[in-house]
Amino acid sequence: MAEENIAAISTALSASGVAVIRISGKSPLDIAQKMFAPVGKTKVADFEPNKMYAGEIHADGFSDFGLCVYFKGPKSFTGEDIVEFHSHGGVAISRGILKKILSSGARLATNGEFTKRAFMNGKLSLSSAEGLIDMINSESVSGVKAGYYLYREKLTAEINRLQDIITDTLAQIDCDMDFPEEDLERSSTEKLVADLKTVIDGVDGLLATYRAGRTLKNGVNVGIVGKPNTGKSSLLNALLNYDKAIVSDLAGTTRDIVEGSVEINGVRFNFYDTAGIRESGDKIEEIGVSMSKRVLNQSDVILLVLDGGALDKEDDQIYELVKDKNLLVVVNKTDKYQTKDPRADLYISALKKDNLDGLKQALYEKSALGGVDINGDFLCEERHYDALSRAKEKFSLALSLVGTVSLDLLAIDVKEGWDALGEISGKTATEDIINNIFSKFCVGK
Ligand code: GDP
Repeated sequence: MAEENIAAISTALSASGVAVIRISGKSPLDIAQKMFAPVGKTKVADFEPNKMYAGEIHADGFSDFGLCVYFKGPKSFTGEDIVEFHSHGGVAISRGILKKILSSGARLATNGEFTKRAFMNGKLSLSSAEGLIDMINSESVSGVKAGYYLYREKLTAEINRLQDIITDTLAQIDCDMDFPEEDLERSSTEKLVADLKTVIDGVDGLLATYRAGRTLKNGVNVGIVGKPNTGKSSLLNALLNYDKAIVSDLAGTTRDIVEGSVEINGVRFNFYDTAGIRESGDKIEEIGVSMSKRVLNQSDVILLVLDGGALDKEDDQIYELVKDKNLLVVVNKTDKYQTKDPRADLYISALKKDNLDGLKQALYEKSALGGVDINGDFLCEERHYDALSRAKEKFSLALSLVGTVSLDLLAIDVKEGWDALGEISGKTATEDIINNIFSKFCVGK
């Protein structure tokens, strides 16, 4: 059943070529009738669905010349009737049109309300909605791909397949309990064991993709460490191609953790430059030093920068601190010094930008994505990982209890595993889960 009309500006609010203002609900065409004057003979009430009509959009105090399109539910994004106005992209224009819509019989949509209605009306699954928001928020090609996998219902299809296997098994157990018979029970138990194994295999297959998937979505965190003056800020600048970090000849001038991102092979790499990890009497630098230690613990890859012209004991101490991490060691300043070091993976010059491509490739290889085909399908949401882990726990428990407890008791664990799977697609998600997901959307989506 269609609900009250909601409306919002669906494009970013800024001076731009075009803005889209959208209405969804029981009667958006009635609102369009009050404020759109089409060119030509067709009246708004007779608009054909999915067809663009040009005309005047009348707001209070001004008009714009633009387009209007009507999508008839249930064949629309939300499953309800939708009207979109495509106006010019000025802030005052789109706000004025929205205001007129709101005074003509709609209320302002809340965050993600259009997509929530689409979910409620069965137009997409919960994981698809999550993929959509991932795509919108992503700043890298790999993040878009990871979101698209979810958005196009590929994960949901796999979850449904696994759930269907269990549904059959549960139905069989139910039936056996109604007509108890020893032969039947034995064959049901055998089927249950085989099915649980198949499902656990399927769940394992998905779980195994999470580490790489999470990296694809969030990017790779790289902490740049090394004693002062080895060229860490210069290297960060060279990688980012602009002067964000402070470069100075004075040891210990990088006091903040400077952050910047670059895309390597379509994947986002986030760099954190740190103050040297050495002890210091300077208060401000001490703060930087403690932040450095935090970066050390939160990085996927540590990039240790050594100065080819000034290798000493301090480098040895830092190396000891980081040698057990996922570490890449570079010797910098090859334009001036040809020093070799047994710990080095790579030789570069930040100043002359020598071998930076080699460095980028080496960083890629060191990340969780080294050797992974990123065109595959990946689990990238922690929520999905948690639900799958819980499902696996329940199925494994049931499997371990086969033969020791009755089938109807086993069925309880199996059903709980089934429910955990259903949280991913939304079949069994609670209202809290659903509200939490849509609260992360922007208004207008
Ligand atoms: P940080 O303290 O490790 O961040 O070091 P900086 O990036 O501030 O660099 C310290 C000094 O080394 C500056 O004078 C840089 O210009 C210089 N430097 C950095 N990289 C290179 C390099 O590849 N070659 C040479 N010759 N000098 C460099």
